[in-house]
Amino acid sequence: MSEEIKKEMNSEHIFIVRCGEVALKGMNKPYFERMLLDRIKKLLKKFDGVRAYRHEGLIFVRADKSLDKNAIIKEIGKVFGVASISPAMECDSNMEAIGKTAVDYMMEAIEERGVKTFKVEAKRADKNFPVKSPDIGRQIGAAVLKGCKVLKVDVHDPDCRLFVDVRHDCSYIYQDKIPGYGGLPLGTNGKGMTLLSGGIDSPVATWMMAKRGMLIEAVHFHSYPYTSQRAQEKVEELASLVATYCGRFKMHVINLLPIQEQIVQNCPEEETTILVRRFMMRIAEKLAQQTGCNMLITGENLGQVASQTAEALVVTDASVKMPVMRPLIGLDKVDIMDLAKEIGTYEKSIEPYEDCCTVFLPKHPTTKPKLERILMSESKLDCEALIDAAVASEEVIEIRPA
Ligand code: ATP
Ligand code: MG
Repeated sequence: MSEEIKKEMNSEHIFIVRCGEVALKGMNKPYFERMLLDRIKKLLKKFDGVRAYRHEGLIFVRADKSLDKNAIIKEIGKVFGVASISPAMECDSNMEAIGKTAVDYMMEAIEERGVKTFKVEAKRADKNFPVKSPDIGRQIGAAVLKGCKVLKVDVHDPDCRLFVDVRHDCSYIYQDKIPGYGGLPLGTNGKGMTLLSGGIDSPVATWMMAKRGMLIEAVHFHSYPYTSQRAQEKVEELASLVATYCGRFKMHVINLLPIQEQIVQNCPEEETTILVRRFMMRIAEKLAQQTGCNMLITGENLGQVASQTAEALVVTDASVKMPVMRPLIGLDKVDIMDLAKEIGTYEKSIEPYEDCCTVFLPKHPTTKPKLERILMSESKLDCEALIDAAVASEEVIEIRPA
């Protein structure tokens, strides 16, 4: 290794980024890795002095030492397709250099985290390296004991598992494997039109589909002036939080009030909710067709409310031809809430603003709608014209990451 590179060693933060499922994608692996690296670079653009690149089957991120290590880890952790991240130190691939770097690493661990016990786990990707993995472990363990007198070895439950990864041109020392979300890189799995409300569920549903590599476009319905301008701003803020994961996207904003009024005037009260939902789906489908989306996404969840019984979902589905993805379908509400907290949307979602679904809410919504009856009610409306007018009146908002 050249002097110049050596001098640079460990003068930067180094992170090893591991791909999860991306690594399993056979022939397509280079494509998935390229997409993943692109996303990492994009999210790290906000920092000056950060580089990300692929090397020996891993992704490396190097950052100026003046930058906040945890802020960088947080950003990398938002990239779908990342299985884990390890802050690391690097050194030449010889036992002396590895031993010295391991001591430096553990000195820092003692200082920062009060580590008292450790265990070395070594592996050599470079099979020509003259020392075998178990011997690397033993020898580096001995070097650390000698260099850090306060430490003891504990092979069963150590405070610090010190990984030594010996590679051809240099070796890496690290401790943590900070888990990422896994999934697949954004842009590797179509595009979905998500029905985004201001509630807890739909942001989580959107996040889950984006996690599988799906690009996002959104539609939000309001009933202005029954719903307020502030309620819509809340949804925009919520969308921005989702965009920190799935990148900027367009949100189509549509006033549903003219349709709701027609339904209230012409159809049985108990059918209002299901009828409104069918209109939402058809408008979303139309927008999806216009914008190259292959699917619709909702935050529906079996049995959660009257409009999400099995019967209601069947009748809702019958309004569109496009597949409807409902990634939350089998989750319990508490699990959805936990996920919302984890991804950072929960606090915004629970801000108390009105939603268009709560306007004209029937006292006793039908929980077992029959498609024939619903179709009969709809025959009293000029559905096509109502849908076209709603789509024509859309406002499109560019959502940027918060
Ligand atoms: P959420 O918490 O996502 O609002 P919810 O449990 O309140 O869901 P509903 O109000 O029945 O359930 O809505 C079911 C789904 O319909 C939502 O998850 C969302 O995908 C879509 N939806 C509801 N209201 C709106 C809206 N105002 N704009 C766009 N989509 C909506
Ligand atoms: Mg809702």
